Amino acid sequence: MEQISRRDVLKLATSQLALASLYPSYLLSKEVESNQDIVFLIPSVSDYKAFSTPFNKRIKTTPSLIAVCRNEAGVQKALKYAAYKRLPIAVKSGGHSFEGFSLNAHGIVVDVSLINEQKLVGDQFISGAGTKLFQLYDFLIPRGRIVPVGSCGTVGLSGLTLGGGYGMFSRRWGLTCDNLKGVRMVDGRGLIIDSKDDPELLWACRGGGNGNFGIITELRYQTHAAPQTLPRHRIKFRHLSTSDAVATCKKWFETTRTLPDDAFSAFVLNGNAITILITYFDQTSKGLVNSIADALSQGATSVSPLAQEKLSTAVTRYYGRKTPLHFKNVSAGFYKNFDDLVDGIHEIFDLVTSSVGTIFQINTLGGAIADQSKVKTAAYPHRMFGYLGELQSYWENDGATEDRIAKVNEIQRKLENIGITRHYRNYPSLELKNWQVAYFGTENYSRLQKCKQKYDPENLISHLQSISLP
Ligand SMILES: Cc1cc2nc3c(=O)[nH]c(=O)nc-3n(C[C@H](O)[C@H](O)[C@H](O)COP(=O)(O)OP(=O)(O)OC[C@H]3O[C@@H](n4cnc5c(N)ncnc54)[C@H](O)[C@@H]3O)c2cc1C
Repeated sequence: MEQISRRDVLKLATSQLALASLYPSYLLSKEVESNQDIVFLIPSVSDYKAFSTPFNKRIKTTPSLIAVCRNEAGVQKALKYAAYKRLPIAVKSGGHSFEGFSLNAHGIVVDVSLINEQKLVGDQFISGAGTKLFQLYDFLIPRGRIVPVGSCGTVGLSGLTLGGGYGMFSRRWGLTCDNLKGVRMVDGRGLIIDSKDDPELLWACRGGGNGNFGIITELRYQTHAAPQTLPRHRIKFRHLSTSDAVATCKKWFETTRTLPDDAFSAFVLNGNAITILITYFDQTSKGLVNSIADALSQGATSVSPLAQEKLSTAVTRYYGRKTPLHFKNVSAGFYKNFDDLVDGIHEIFDLVTSSVGTIFQINTLGGAIADQSKVKTAAYPHRMFGYLGELQSYWENDGATEDRIAKVNEIQRKLENIGITRHYRNYPSLELKNWQVAYFGTENYSRLQKCKQKYDPENLISHLQSISLP
């Protein structure tokens, strides 16, 4: 870990001074004295904004105290202080939680974003908890290795993995959490735990670990030989009627059933336009993927020429926006096939096409994600579903917030009415009534509660949808 700089020392001194006025007892206690392991920030200090701003500008939580940790010792200190003051802890890494679960207003936010060292030991990738996806790609691809992660460059590796994690490589190598081989964690009691001493913790962190049991400081992954290229097809349809959009969706479901495992596809309905994306990375799949793309291109408005870029360039195309924006995104549920949507799809597509800025995206899962042997090894419980839907709504100004949320919620209720009740933990929604079962299933939820009891018996680490004590 690099040494603290002169500028950092100044920052620390400023925040300590400010902190002294707010928490006089804090500076008196030797146990929680600030040092090179940790920097405390309160709203009046200059660096506060950089660490308190979530990716979702809709979230207006103003933390009263942020502990920016530089290493595991810093995390332990933050935890000790929180326990001593009985402050609830929120854990923050990349800050992309849809509902702002990595912030709290009246407790302490433990920020691990500076713990972001990366190492490759043999074929194992060892990462600090603060690594962002673009840092993983930048580190691994030049070394000829890859871990199947998501696409957005600024998403945190911790949050992604602990809730599951899927992307363009997952049908070949599984979810990000399936490639997780070990974690280190400072638990709710302040103890350092390594999952090599407790397989149950590793099980829990594979899909059920977001802000629940402790603060993960290190994640260890199996890597794979990185492909050279990531070719893609992009097919666009414009000015569609609802019936045509539904017919295109039905065809997409039917056609993508035959995709090879190295291929990934996304169906994106945005207003009255549809974009279909197909990527693959194994040259032996070229013929099959081309024929699938040809079948899906019938009647398209435009078909982008197949891009044959090298992997390091191709992944950056999907990084998305870097800076925060307002949004309300939610899981639109898991599906086995088109039949799961058939009863409500006309009504739902009508609502999407008539709502400015609302997007309905469906991504392919399946392949290695569906491997039944992993049912037992991970808390992620949705392996029987080959597709995952996501509702997205983006806007620029606070004025639009209420209308946009109402529209997304209306569509989500329609989905619920047609029996879509299983949802992705990493696409949370506060409106979900039975979120425990929706994200984890009944059995896995009780098992996660036992883990909570073991590692955070005082429920210090919590957010609005964290695992409760049994
Ligand atoms: C623009 C965008 C694109 C996305 N793309 C994808 C995608 O391609 N694939 C996909 O699967 N998901 C995707 N997601 C969802 C993403 O996986 C989740 O939002 C994820 O939880 C974000 O993690 P984070 O670390 O950035 O966020 P944070 O807000 O920092 O954390 C999210 C949750 O994880 C917990 N957490 C974070 N770090 C730790 C830690 N060290 N120890 C314990 N708990 C921790 C937090 O407490 C919080 O509950 C995307 C989200 C956005 C906003």
